[in-house]
Amino acid sequence: MLCVTLTGNTHEENSRIIKEHSRSADLFELRIDYLEASQLDKTADFTKSAGKPLILTCRREKDGGKYRRTDRTRASLLARLLESGTWSYVDLEEDFRRSELEQTARSRSIEIIRSFHDMEGVPDDLFTRMQKIARRGEIPKAAVTAKGMKDVITVFSAETQLASIPRKVLLAMGDWGIPTRILYKRTGSFMTFASPPGFSAAPGHLDITAMKELYRSDQVDASTAVYGVIGNPVMHSASPRIHNPAFHALGIHAVYLPFQVDDVRNFLVLADLLKIQGVSVTVPFKQQVLPYLGKISREVKQIGSCNTVVREREYWKGINTDYYGFLHPIMEDLNAERIRKAAVIGAGGAARSVVWALRNHQCQVTILNRTPEKAQRLAQETGSSWAALDDVSAVSGSDLIVQTTSAGMHPYSDIDPLPGYQFSGREILYELVYVPEVTKIMKRAAEAGCRLIPGRNMLLGQGIMQFETFTGSAYPFSEDTVVF
Ligand code: NAP
Repeated sequence: MLCVTLTGNTHEENSRIIKEHSRSADLFELRIDYLEASQLDKTADFTKSAGKPLILTCRREKDGGKYRRTDRTRASLLARLLESGTWSYVDLEEDFRRSELEQTARSRSIEIIRSFHDMEGVPDDLFTRMQKIARRGEIPKAAVTAKGMKDVITVFSAETQLASIPRKVLLAMGDWGIPTRILYKRTGSFMTFASPPGFSAAPGHLDITAMKELYRSDQVDASTAVYGVIGNPVMHSASPRIHNPAFHALGIHAVYLPFQVDDVRNFLVLADLLKIQGVSVTVPFKQQVLPYLGKISREVKQIGSCNTVVREREYWKGINTDYYGFLHPIMEDLNAERIRKAAVIGAGGAARSVVWALRNHQCQVTILNRTPEKAQRLAQETGSSWAALDDVSAVSGSDLIVQTTSAGMHPYSDIDPLPGYQFSGREILYELVYVPEVTKIMKRAAEAGCRLIPGRNMLLGQGIMQFETFTGSAYPFSEDTVVF
């Protein structure tokens, strides 16, 4: 079940959210700790008109909520609301036992969700506490704070470790925990929580539109093929918006989601646990993933960098779709020899694919980098020339300038990596950064009359090839698929 947390200050605001999302959400959680005091007396009427099952929750500050008054005042407020309203569940914390409240709930057939929160980490006794709650006939709910991949693995292991508890909620907060919210059934949880669009009710809460329409979380189960992107940071990735709509369009029972990763080895343990079928690999793991691959493509071998990993029977296979994604928009120009001389700005992972792709197509390449030693190393390896980043004379006369640094990328969007270079208007500027869509250097090149190739083109090209590698199907282009 998908539950939307209502954090409006008024019932009017919450009613509007229910109306807008009643088709996506199975139930709503009314957080009365967010309500203005004057609204509390109107809560019973609100519950009667909601038209959907409701959870009553009044979260204290120490558990991540806004309620500041004493537990005694909270108990009497909850008792009053339980008596007068129409509720399906009430959320009471593990350390907040009030027999009168429990009796009221039971007498009105309101189920008790017994919750605990750990804002610092994952408690050692997580599973025993949940079992203890379940033995009392209550629904255990734990929200813990994952600080790394090992914590995420612990939460997902609940699917088997706590299989005897039919109804429970276990999720990890923060960016690390986002997979536990999307793949909630794979933690053994029977519901997950989402926020109304534009607001995050708790760390890592995704909005209901993403949960329902992009990830289709309520349809993900043990038979769903899981794919994703690994990186750190990774939550900005546009790849879920390339893959998920295409799975849906082709009726493939699969989901693609972001995994924040600290260590490739730890991720591969999770990949086995969840039977993940393939992943896109982004910064900083494109090289770190190499020792774990049983088979690599020719490009991965040459470039020394892998952006796509797929599960074969007994091993992981690595390919590099950045290479082809980069080439795709300039293939005609290369074939027609309109691009013979290129300058590549940057010498990081993306630059490696770019330089090799250009060299394999007989281009003369000059690499410029902030750290000149890295430009020199890549140049020696690929048979290119190199220069320091401020030596703009090395760029002059290029048919193509490829900007591969992260300078200009959000949140560094006011940086121009090549401020001293005057565009002639004849060169093509190929920008790899895709957030923002138009970077500072692109604006300057456009003003000079240059042809621009935005980062989105390569992103799409590499993503589409990944999709085809993952599924064996051609990417289904339509208005609904490429949606970013
Ligand atoms: P990376 O391996 O970390 O390399 C970063 C590069 O940026 C290095 O050359 C670094 O120079 C340079 N750099 C960073 N900050 C700089 C600054 N303030 N001024 C000048 N140079 C700076 O990262 P990557 O994997 O190559 O990715 C680089 C960019 O390409 C990212 O924005 C990424 O999103 C984008 N990308 C796009 C696509 C696509 O499909 N469109 C695909 C791959 C990558 P130093 O060596 O001196 O540190």
